[in-house]
Amino acid sequence: MFPIYHHNPAHLSHDTEVLEYDGPRIRVASSPFYPGGGGQPADRGTATVGGRSTEIAEIGIGHSPWLTLAEDLGAEREVTLDVDPDFRRLMSELHTATHILNALVFRDFDGALVTGAQLAGDGTARLDFDLPGADNDRLRALEGAIAEVRRQALPVRALYVDRAEAEAEPGLIRSKSVAPPPTEDGMIRVIEIAGLDRQACGGTHVTDTGAIRPVRVLKVENKGRQNRRIRIGLMS
Ligand SMILES: [Zn+2]
Repeated sequence: MFPIYHHNPAHLSHDTEVLEYDGPRIRVASSPFYPGGGGQPADRGTATVGGRSTEIAEIGIGHSPWLTLAEDLGAEREVTLDVDPDFRRLMSELHTATHILNALVFRDFDGALVTGAQLAGDGTARLDFDLPGADNDRLRALEGAIAEVRRQALPVRALYVDRAEAEAEPGLIRSKSVAPPPTEDGMIRVIEIAGLDRQACGGTHVTDTGAIRPVRVLKVENKGRQNRRIRIGLMS
């Protein structure tokens, strides 16, 4: 069973049942919230029970996760869960922007791999690459190449490939630290940007590269002998 944030990411307001109640924690039958992982922070949102709403403080993993509420809303059976649309949107744009950067570095810098990625709630992200000897000015110039990919409005879609096939395709599993675990039937979720990139990922994304607001390369730094850290930010 695929999570709602994968098979129907536009579904942001969700009525469901409370299966278990433990003070400010509730276990729900199903949840629209991205729980965090792969460098992408968890969704923000609210729970509403009997006309009272409170923030979600913590989102558990799994199809029927535990949610920790900021305020105890009591032991009701029905709950409405609302994903914060602006934050989801920001993270989906930023996450897709990191794939573009990632793809351009892989393409233009001899298949260089990501060694770490972290998105921040303020619309910035950092990516670390295994890039000994790369010219930092060339890396900064990727800002123009990212703008070109945005202008092309390339379709972005999710598909599932067999694990063995995924492992055989060079660059598909771009980073061990950000690749999602396989599904129960051994399939790997892949995000494809038409004509540019395919990589294993479990996060949320926009549906075409034209839906991302302008991206700036904020900083390129050396991290040790091997690694370069590139910080990007979405313009508000
Ligand atoms: Zn992704």
